Amino acid sequence: MTSSPVPTRKVHQGEYPNQVAPLINYNLFTSDPTLVAAVERGGATWAVERVRELGRILGTEEVQRWGVEANEKPPTLHTHDRNGNRRDEVLFHPAWHQLMRTSIAHRLHSLPWTDMRHGAHVARAALMMITVQNEAGHTCPVSMTFSGMAALRAEPEIAKLWEPKILSSEYDAGFAPLSGKKGALLGMGMTEKQGGSDVRANTTRAERIGSSREYLVTGHKWFCSAPMCDAFLILAQTPNGLSCFLLPRWTAAGDKNNFFIQRLKDKLGNRSNASSEVEFSNAWAQLVGEEGRGINTIIEMVNHTRLDCAIAAAGLMRQALVQAVHHCCHRAAFGKLLLEQPLMQNVLADLVLESEAATLMAMRLAESFDRRAGDERQRAFGRIATAISKYWLCKRVLPFVSEALECLGGNGYVEDSGMPRLYREAPLYGIWEGSGNVICLDILRALKKEPATGEALLQELHSAKGADQRFDLFTNAIENDMVNMKKSFASSGQEGQSRRLADRLALALQTSLMIRHASAGNTQAFIASRLGHDHGANFGTLSSAYDLGAILEPATRIFSQS
Ligand SMILES: Cc1cc2nc3c(=O)[nH]c(=O)nc-3n(C[C@H](O)[C@H](O)[C@H](O)COP(=O)(O)OP(=O)(O)OC[C@H]3O[C@@H](n4cnc5c(N)ncnc54)[C@H](O)[C@@H]3O)c2cc1C
Repeated sequence: MTSSPVPTRKVHQGEYPNQVAPLINYNLFTSDPTLVAAVERGGATWAVERVRELGRILGTEEVQRWGVEANEKPPTLHTHDRNGNRRDEVLFHPAWHQLMRTSIAHRLHSLPWTDMRHGAHVARAALMMITVQNEAGHTCPVSMTFSGMAALRAEPEIAKLWEPKILSSEYDAGFAPLSGKKGALLGMGMTEKQGGSDVRANTTRAERIGSSREYLVTGHKWFCSAPMCDAFLILAQTPNGLSCFLLPRWTAAGDKNNFFIQRLKDKLGNRSNASSEVEFSNAWAQLVGEEGRGINTIIEMVNHTRLDCAIAAAGLMRQALVQAVHHCCHRAAFGKLLLEQPLMQNVLADLVLESEAATLMAMRLAESFDRRAGDERQRAFGRIATAISKYWLCKRVLPFVSEALECLGGNGYVEDSGMPRLYREAPLYGIWEGSGNVICLDILRALKKEPATGEALLQELHSAKGADQRFDLFTNAIENDMVNMKKSFASSGQEGQSRRLADRLALALQTSLMIRHASAGNTQAFIASRLGHDHGANFGTLSSAYDLGAILEPATRIFSQS
């Protein structure tokens, strides 16, 4: 196959020839045609202007600088005041607050809860996907606030009190009782020293005060991110079992709650964000949902944070790709731009396919959240697609960012390029909200206990059938396996095979989306390399049968100009 010419421009002749200028003043939304199309397809055309405006803001030099500064100057813990009184405050660099203010003003924490128009989840997913590309750390409390609201609504009385502050588009970083605040943020406390995946092992205890729905909580949380949030959904044991509580930093009486921050974690990445260890000593909290049904209550929050993990992983991939393409459009080696080197074209084209499929998957998942109200099939699809997408995208982001970083050569390994920050952030999404194995077991659980989820997934795959024989055969094989699985759900052997299953379900789902929404050339190359055996173990091993120039064209057209 003759490859389409790749659009190029002259080697940069700046003060230092062949050093690539940073990518600034570009629009993170409009430069991503896959994302733009997904927003329109998902019914969020009404939000395009809002996403476009945020895309412009995030690409400016000033806002990119905020991301750098918030990570260069990480938060600090202040346990005591000068007189020895407990203070339990974390202080952040002003850049963190600027990032938070921008995200809250654009309603990343609330859009689907405040705007009833169809497509609100899709619109928010697009806002989130571009925001993590600028700075991912601060999206942790933003995401927990968005997700926590979904669970808090199980308790209308408490929700009524908190909702106006949580849904406010005003960011209020003040450490004060709710009554004195214009906006409020939510966090989450499940993981304890003895276990994070197996929360049933939680030892934190809650004792009811009289006959009310108020409790005193005593225990600890080994990971508690963004401890300056105003309240936390936490799990604690009661005589009726594990239960969910809202535990605020200040009590209803306006006193500082018995919530003690022991220390901040020294983390691999995600350095702008504070993750802490906390102790509760008779901390005041209110029951959310039924006593003993804590996991069922908090799972609504977990499902939304899993959605955000999938969106964030796709966003990190996109940003790594953008930086790699930008670099190769302007850097020369051996007398040609890197973009003109056939092997670099292969690497970049392979990354383009992976990123496109990741974006389609995350956006389709967000769409299912929009469509699940009153649509049982979408709800069932969303249930299983959340697990599949969270697992798969959080795995794929790791080799992806590593490969993209290498495209920048030595500069990619240096902090100034921004690539090390992406690289350190990448493994987090796989750990948060259910590590890889736990999510694969969740896929099995969904298929076993909620058969409608498997049926909804197959229906989704069927909608792309007939377009490519390889895909049809792949889907048929999955269908057969699912039928056989049903006969032997009791066998423990299935657990050990659940990653194999999850990988195939993810690939089938991504392929069905490529068939329906990507160009014929990209889809053919994706199918051959991902479903067939026409691919190596690494990126950059696409067959010469495919038009790599055409695969690269949209990205290089945009980033060769920048
Ligand atoms: C930066 C950061 C911030 C965090 N913030 C928060 C927070 O705000 N709130 C909060 O509650 N938690 C938070 N966490 C904790 C996180 O959710 C947990 O680390 C995660 O759920 C895993 O729990 P664990 O660390 O106890 O690992 P474990 O549960 O001990 O798991 C260890 C490994 O074993 C695997 N595994 C577990 N069970 C099985 C099984 N049955 N079969 C096969 N493999 C299995 C897991 O997949 C994992 O790979 C944070 C973590 C990080 C890194």
